[in-house]
Amino acid sequence: MELGTADASHGERARGWLSVTDHPTGGSERLPVVIVEGATKGPTLWLTGGVHGDEATGVAVALDAVEAVDPRKLSGTIACIPVVNPAGLRRNARASYYNDEDPNRFFPDPAAESAAPAEVQQRIDEQVYETIADTADAMIDLHTATVGSMPFAIRDRVLYGTHRSEAEATELATQLETLIDAFGHPSVTEYQAAEYLEEGLQRSTAGAVLNTAGIPAFTAELGGHSVVTEELRAGGVAGVHGVARELGMLDSLPEDVDPPAEIVTDSPVDFRVRRERGPRTDTAGLVRHRLGAGEVFSEGDPLVDVVSPTGDHLETVTADGDGYVIGRAEGLASYEGDPIASTAIRDETDLVAKRDDWPQPITASSRVATDLCKAWSTSTKWGTKRLIDTLVWIETRGTVG
Ligand SMILES: [Zn+2]
Repeated sequence: MELGTADASHGERARGWLSVTDHPTGGSERLPVVIVEGATKGPTLWLTGGVHGDEATGVAVALDAVEAVDPRKLSGTIACIPVVNPAGLRRNARASYYNDEDPNRFFPDPAAESAAPAEVQQRIDEQVYETIADTADAMIDLHTATVGSMPFAIRDRVLYGTHRSEAEATELATQLETLIDAFGHPSVTEYQAAEYLEEGLQRSTAGAVLNTAGIPAFTAELGGHSVVTEELRAGGVAGVHGVARELGMLDSLPEDVDPPAEIVTDSPVDFRVRRERGPRTDTAGLVRHRLGAGEVFSEGDPLVDVVSPTGDHLETVTADGDGYVIGRAEGLASYEGDPIASTAIRDETDLVAKRDDWPQPITASSRVATDLCKAWSTSTKWGTKRLIDTLVWIETRGTVG
């Protein structure tokens, strides 16, 4: 495989750089790339890290997971961009300085066409997406979450509608589940579909690769940000290798990589859960937690006491459902309406979800029909010109269907 300046032949590892945009002061923004090209053919597993510039453990897992692979014992290819957002890394911050928005929300989504031209962060994300979608059979995007949080894998819901049938979505969700099981970390289904779309999570790296490209992809959340947590790093490397083995790329794990089941903590509950930001406070005050990360609760259990700075008890926040604490919200102070934790709560809802806002795919025949109607209903030059444009478009596209 060749990627930017990295070019690996069979049985080799190659490192290099992928230039994605130029700096106004000279030079270019280069994403680091590592390719491990197996001795024999097989699937391509993609790893990405550091789309949030302060998520240290994810970057460490990406680097160490590719380093641990012996190319001579690999079937297929592992392709890795360990730092997708160097502009965030340079300032040890989540976002890049191209804009202050989340860089993990600009990946392609057919329903998110904007009239405004794409600015630099979106252009970078689109290049990363195209590179992955062209070659990947599976992808893991490595992240971290709140301070002290437990590690888990996020299972996005697979959307269906005009771009994918329900049966295809169910098949893709099954493939995804198999890979997440092999990763060996607790699996947390993503927010319900409406909230998922409202948050733009279908435009995250894994969300777009899964839902736009139709390739099984998931996000791994490996503890807190800013420092590498050794135990979670080792668990993440083990998980990546577990996925590679599941894909048939490795017969066995390298000697210095443990099986995920031996070093990763199981889910604290034996039922399916989904991610929830909350419960939330009704009262402003100081948050005193009763439970920590990984601790289990039942619906109605007290999770947090909100107290005043003089110690008066103001409110007890209780659990909305059965589940466990993924991580406590950062910060002692809480305003009314703030979530007090990231939690995993019991989820019975479908893993696939119908999407109503997907536009119909534009086919040549639908465009011809539309344009002929327009041309016949008007005698203006516009009608004729548009019809000629369409005929040229068909000519260049080569097919009508
Ligand atoms: Zn992140």
